[in-house]
This record gives sequence, C-alpha cells and structure tokens, in this order.
Amino acid sequence: MATLEINDLHVSVETESGPSEILRGVDLTVKQGETHAIMGPNGSGKSTLAYSLAGHPKYTVTGGSVRLDGEDVLEMSVDERARAGVFLAMQYPVEVPGVSVSNFLRTAATAIRGEAPKLRLWVKEVREAMERLKIDPAFAERNVNEGFSGGEKKRHEILQLELLRPRVAILDETDSGLDVDALRIVSEGVNRVRETGEVGTLLITHYTRILRYIQPDHVHVFAQGRIAESGGPELADKLEAEGYEAYVKGGAPA
Ligand code: ADP
Ligand code: MG
Ligand code: MG
Repeated sequence: MATLEINDLHVSVETESGPSEILRGVDLTVKQGETHAIMGPNGSGKSTLAYSLAGHPKYTVTGGSVRLDGEDVLEMSVDERARAGVFLAMQYPVEVPGVSVSNFLRTAATAIRGEAPKLRLWVKEVREAMERLKIDPAFAERNVNEGFSGGEKKRHEILQLELLRPRVAILDETDSGLDVDALRIVSEGVNRVRETGEVGTLLITHYTRILRYIQPDHVHVFAQGRIAESGGPELADKLEAEGYEAYVKGGAPA
C-alpha cells in the first residue's frame, strides 16, 4: 500500500530580499485510498506544499523529509517523482506551446508506465475518458493549456489524473473558477479515481464548496506554513461557519 509521509517539512523560497521560509514544519501522512482536504487562507503556503512535493526548482527544502513507501522523494528529480506516482494538478497550469493534448498525454503515460501504450487501446482509453468528462473530442488536438478557459484547464487535469493513475494526487484549487456544472463533472472524475482505492488524494482548497462533492476522510487547516488543526469532515463544516480568522491571528485555537 502506497503511503506518502511528510515529516517536519521546511521550505524556503527565494525573494528579492533573500530566502523566506514559507513551510514551517509540515507533518502529514496520506495513505493510498485516503482523501485529505488541506484548507487554509490565501498565502498560508498550500501551493508551496504542492510545488515542493512535485519538485519545483523555485522551492528549497531546508529541513524534514518526504517519503513515498519509504523512498526519499526529495532525492528524486521531477520526472522520477512523476514515475514514482506523484501527480500535481497546478493552481495555475502552464501552457505547452506546440504540444497537443493527445501527444502530451501519450508522452506522459509512456514515461510513467515505462512503455508506450498500444496506440489503438490508448486512443480508445482517451476517448472514453474525455466522454466521461464531457470534453469535446476536438480538444485532443489543441495545444496544452493554450487559450484554455479556466474550466478546460481543470478538466484537462482531471483527464490526466484519470489516464495516468498516480499513487498520490495533489489537486491544488481544482475547484477555483468552475461553475456548478463543471465542478460536478470534475468532482465525479476525482471520485472515480478515488473509488479505485489506488490513489491517495491531497485536495487543496480555500473554499468548502468542493467538499460537498468530494467527501474527505480527513480535513487539515493550513495556517502560516504548517498544519494548525486536523479532524474529520466536521472540521470543514466548522470552517464554513467560522472562517479562518482564529487561525490567522493566533495560530490554532486552544
Ligand atoms: P496559498 O497557496 O496558501 O495561497 P502560497 O504557497 O501560494 O499560498 O504562498 C505562500 C506565501 O509564500 C505567500 O506569502 C507567497 O507570497 C509566498 N510565495 C510563494 N511562492 C513564492 C515565490 N515563487 N516567490 C516569492 N514568494 C512566494
Ligand atoms: Mg493562493
Ligand atoms: Mg495556492
């Protein structure tokens, strides 16, 4: 069973006035099949956590460890992390000029599976996944994220998630900018992957709205670069009612 173990993780980012510590001791264990919601105010370091796990070069780990089934994730290159099964859907996905969705997905699948998927099966797999996500077939020939609407970017990420079948999926504000219909379709995709029991999901969000569609097993409040409180789904209800104020001002409530 795949387990991601984050231990006392400290991460700094380079700013104009020197390095600035953003993550200040994150502890979190995500097991295969579990869904963890990470909720917190803007600027608390949620995206920094996501990027650090994926190996973004801008973020420097200054302390702590990240292990996937005991393997040191921090020692791995970005590609190695992807092959080990760590998947990141970014809050602000980048454009990949000149690369079509269809080629991008096949290249990614080849890298992760270790061999190119058989073309006919692959085409069928992609077509069916696109149908489930109500994505227009013409979308496959467009360049990745080029001129995509917010909703198209998010659907494209869930399409990747469904096709690449990672062991740990980090979804950073997958709900942002989606209307109710798109949110439902995207959530259904996440739930389908979740129901396989094969993936551990880290669902990062500012708002509780998506948690009506994707029910987390655990909820964590992220504040000032660390987890300030953990609980079950009822913690999300409390946040919905009370907001983050208690955490922003004085850290975790007593
Ligand atoms: P969240 O996703 O919770 O809104 P972020 O991780 O995006 O928070 O940001 C946390 C803090 O780190 C913010 O104060 C932000 O300005 C700072 N930060 C994050 N990434 C960078 C970066 N690449 N350069 C400078 N500052 C950054
Ligand atoms: Mg933010
Ligand atoms: Mg963010």
